Amino acid sequence: MLPFISAMKPHRTELYQDVPSTCWPIVYSPDYNITFMGLEKLHPFDAGKWGKVIDFLKEEKLVVDDLIVQAREATEDDLLVVHTRRYLNKLKWSFVVATITEIPPVLFLPNFLVQRKVLKPLRTQTGGTIMAGKLAVDRGWAINVGGGFHHCSSDKGGGFCAYADITLAIKFLFERVQGVSKATIIDLDAHQGNGHERDFMDDSRVYIMDAYNRYIYPGDGFAKRAIKRKVELEWGTEDTEYLQKVQTHVEGALNELKPDIIVYNAGTDILDGDPLGGLAISPQGIVKRDEVVFKAARSRRIPILMVTSGGYQKRTARIIADSILNLHNLGLIDKELATSGVENPKVEQMLRNSVADLSKLSLQ
Ligand SMILES: [Zn+2]
Repeated sequence: MLPFISAMKPHRTELYQDVPSTCWPIVYSPDYNITFMGLEKLHPFDAGKWGKVIDFLKEEKLVVDDLIVQAREATEDDLLVVHTRRYLNKLKWSFVVATITEIPPVLFLPNFLVQRKVLKPLRTQTGGTIMAGKLAVDRGWAINVGGGFHHCSSDKGGGFCAYADITLAIKFLFERVQGVSKATIIDLDAHQGNGHERDFMDDSRVYIMDAYNRYIYPGDGFAKRAIKRKVELEWGTEDTEYLQKVQTHVEGALNELKPDIIVYNAGTDILDGDPLGGLAISPQGIVKRDEVVFKAARSRRIPILMVTSGGYQKRTARIIADSILNLHNLGLIDKELATSGVENPKVEQMLRNSVADLSKLSLQ
């Protein structure tokens, strides 16, 4: 039986509305992108990367606007499923938001502008992650083109993360979707995911694997206690070593515990040249990494929700789009698969292929 049954009925939410089966389980909204009088240029971020990913996918004819799931903004009631009111109230102070987002000039903006130009995009991406959680369970996989704010916990933001979208997506599933009582987070962003780690500390329903550069932000020793599989990487780690570690530990994690949902935090700040990540993974290495994770999930028939998290170099959007195209070319994501679920004969074939394929993982 479910270990925690809340006495209160879950609140009404717009985020779990039915999605037409003709849509891809790819969630996005133009509202994701942060633009404000060039303010976004003051950050070492490409604050429009999410829209560029979608533009590339459209150029490649993978998706068209009408077949993308439109993300909705998470409401205050949605956010309160995880966040404390105290924390949400703090976001009404521009200086708090300036600190969390690491955009100092935000300090000088009136809060209504901060809400509209900075927090609303982040709330919409958060809504997108929650929506994608349900879609992943319904369709076998889902991708939120944004989200992955893994430094934020219920009562504290940081590192550009103002809302705990990963914790929210998992709590929504636990509370509202029958048959979902165990989750595994695979966090492969270059930074340690201390937000969800703090939120799920001592929660036996959630298994966390985290691979990160051991020397960089946030170095949260307390949060590390929540990690079941810790993969600490050295400065400048390259493809071969990285992919072997990812392969071993993703397989190991899923063999240890078979969850009802995988949340895959697919940060691309592992990319060579990232000013913050300090690792040296090639674009092809990132594409291969996502492939390894999706194969491991799909071959075990575990629903997977991917969020894009950190990584904001100019070339990042192209790499994310290439990775999604690669997953599609390999049959690991497919609208038909998605709509027909795991009973589809195409899935069976894909699973047979992928098991044969996993044994020959190598890089050029
Ligand atoms: Zn990161």
